[in-house]
Amino acid sequence: MGPPGAGKGTQGRLLGEALGVPWISSGDLLRRAVEEGSALGERARDVMARGDLVPDGLMDDLMRSRLGSPDARGGFIADGYPRTVPQAQALAVALEGLGRSVAAALAISLAEDEVVDRLSGRRTCPVCGRVYHVTHEPPVRAEHCDADGAALIRREDDTVATIRRRLAVYHEESAPLIAHYAELGLLREVDGSGSPPAVAERLSAAASAAQVGRVGHRGR
Ligand SMILES: [Zn+2]
Repeated sequence: MGPPGAGKGTQGRLLGEALGVPWISSGDLLRRAVEEGSALGERARDVMARGDLVPDGLMDDLMRSRLGSPDARGGFIADGYPRTVPQAQALAVALEGLGRSVAAALAISLAEDEVVDRLSGRRTCPVCGRVYHVTHEPPVRAEHCDADGAALIRREDDTVATIRRRLAVYHEESAPLIAHYAELGLLREVDGSGSPPAVAERLSAAASAAQVGRVGHRGR
């Protein structure tokens, strides 16, 4: 878990690589199911085509089916799922059925001002997709891509007002989930400030302490 701008996706992928387990993001799960045209994918496509939020039950089914894959048997990093307490409960039941359990719920924390600084300074190249930051990772020529010279763009939802609104939504939505995992004693909060490698190191340490990625982890 983590607010927008915390680098959740990048960190999830890095952590998966470090632990030798797959990184499973809810967005990828949905895209892959739709591409494969599976029965679940058809349901997901219908829901998304109507512009509706993907309901808990459907995400639960997608995740349960993904957890049965051979590469996920030694553990996995889930990103973007569970998003709600009912999803967390469904995940616990699915894992119990496999004789497994959640080892840790990692939450990246980042001060609001730092989120605003990171996201409002972000610029993307429309040609090659490379991402810059006006102060932390500026291009050689201001507002232009180093690779192809294209004029960099700023995402519409990266304005300060929108960022603050997205943050408020994140805190409101994630609070029950964070409380749920805290109650279970599974919550590990990790400081998300500093460089991506520094954060990756902290996450790795928290995951190792919780024995993430080892089969038969808890209570052994
Ligand atoms: Zn470019």
